[in-house]
Amino acid sequence: MKYAALSDKGLVRPNNEDAFLATEAAIGVADGMGGHEGGELASQIALEEASKAITSMERRPKATLAKIFANANSAVLRMARESQQTGMGTTLTIAVLKKQRIWIGHIGDSRAYLLRGGNLEQLTEDHSLVGDLVRSGGLSQDEARTHPKRHVITKAVGTQKLIKPDIFSLAFEDGDRLLICTDGLTNHVEPDSLSKLAAGGSPESACERLVEAAKERGGSDNITVVIGDINGASESKPDRSSTDRRTVLSRLFGKNGVN
Ligand code: MG
Repeated sequence: MKYAALSDKGLVRPNNEDAFLATEAAIGVADGMGGHEGGELASQIALEEASKAITSMERRPKATLAKIFANANSAVLRMARESQQTGMGTTLTIAVLKKQRIWIGHIGDSRAYLLRGGNLEQLTEDHSLVGDLVRSGGLSQDEARTHPKRHVITKAVGTQKLIKPDIFSLAFEDGDRLLICTDGLTNHVEPDSLSKLAAGGSPESACERLVEAAKERGGSDNITVVIGDINGASESKPDRSSTDRRTVLSRLFGKNGVN
């Protein structure tokens, strides 16, 4: 997978509580919540768990994804307990290529999309109050994007002892483009524009176009976009590239100098 990622704190928020994972084998985002540094910690911890498990993902993608979410959940709960922070949690949406399939693990209101043959398809369902209302027919997608309670999510990593992420897979095709993003993008950019801006050019240029569009339209939240282009060589072995690993970890820990 040829990939690129971009995270921007936007124009309103004082800090960036989003984080991303971007490697040859897997891409993902996490959108943290919680006071003080709780949100930033939660999203970083969740992706760190993902990053650890993906490097050892072998025959059982579904079980490995389930384990990633369970471990991320325990890690965030533990951190909240130890740092005595309340309200700490994070969304987590990841896509892993394995056995000629895209494996998706998802919880919260970040999203995964598939761009195939010019069509943009949303692969994930939002676990949010407005997402429930849209599914029951009580709200349109447009209304959901500006609804005052659009930030209320119904499931997240680190908010309950047991979580039930959505885990599923679909066959990939050459030329597929995966887009994973936080709600800082989708609350500002409607599906038609999203589809146009995400298509064409390199993953880097598409990430830049999308983040720019969200900022032009208000940038009210942190914006994170990860794009992966799938080609014939994408069938992933466990990603042991030290360069990729370093990229991920410097994103995760750069600020604290852990690596
Ligand atoms: Mg957000």
